[in-house]
Amino acid sequence: MLIAWTIGLGLIFGSFLNVVIHRLPLDESLVWPGSRCPACRAPIRPWDNIPVLSFLILRGKCRACGATISWRYPFVEALTAALFFLTVTTFGPTLQAALLLVFLCGLVAVAFIDLDHQIIPNAVTLPGIPLGLLAGFLVGDPPLLDRLIGCLAGAGFLYLVLFYGSVLYGQEAMGEGDLNLIALVGAFLGWRAVILTVLIGCFSGSVVGLGLIVAGRLSRRQHMPFGPFLALGAVVALFWGDALIALYQRLLP
Ligand SMILES: [Zn+2]
Repeated sequence: MLIAWTIGLGLIFGSFLNVVIHRLPLDESLVWPGSRCPACRAPIRPWDNIPVLSFLILRGKCRACGATISWRYPFVEALTAALFFLTVTTFGPTLQAALLLVFLCGLVAVAFIDLDHQIIPNAVTLPGIPLGLLAGFLVGDPPLLDRLIGCLAGAGFLYLVLFYGSVLYGQEAMGEGDLNLIALVGAFLGWRAVILTVLIGCFSGSVVGLGLIVAGRLSRRQHMPFGPFLALGAVVALFWGDALIALYQRLLP
């Protein structure tokens, strides 16, 4: 029963995140007007706005004009629901889980806004940093000091990694937004998770970047957003970080 509620809530939050991802970078209101078809601007009726389900029933087309609706919308909804499910099954129905859900919603918004616009909005990351530190007071795990170190050292560490990256590749590989994002990860997950986040972010970003260059989809001059890979790294660090570190220690001679 709890699981069903969690997934339902995740779908609704995912639906709202779609609105945030679409409207926040355009400086539009998040609550007014209601959802419209991106092609014909026809208002979407409430019963056509059910997360994932409406997309399947309408076969990914607008009811008014028949324009194709991006699969990204149901994907973001399903992804958010999956993150809600993982959080509640891992941490139970606790205050810690609720705070992590806020963090994860922020990560989803940042990842897709960065993908679309190559910006990481401070409106998401900056308010999240004090909230993450406050969570250290409220739930204590990880402790406040770990979070503070993660926040400050994490941004500094990433700065070094990306500084050397920009020396190697001869271009600016980082924005202020990436540093704010890693500070946010530190504030919520502590410094151990920050190291893992940056490593996974750099590794997955390099693999995908090289793949796109080989496939001729990305030139070396083009900027590739780093936010989605950092967000992926933070999610892996949150749910599978301990398992990864244990595996790493077992593989050491
Ligand atoms: Zn339409």
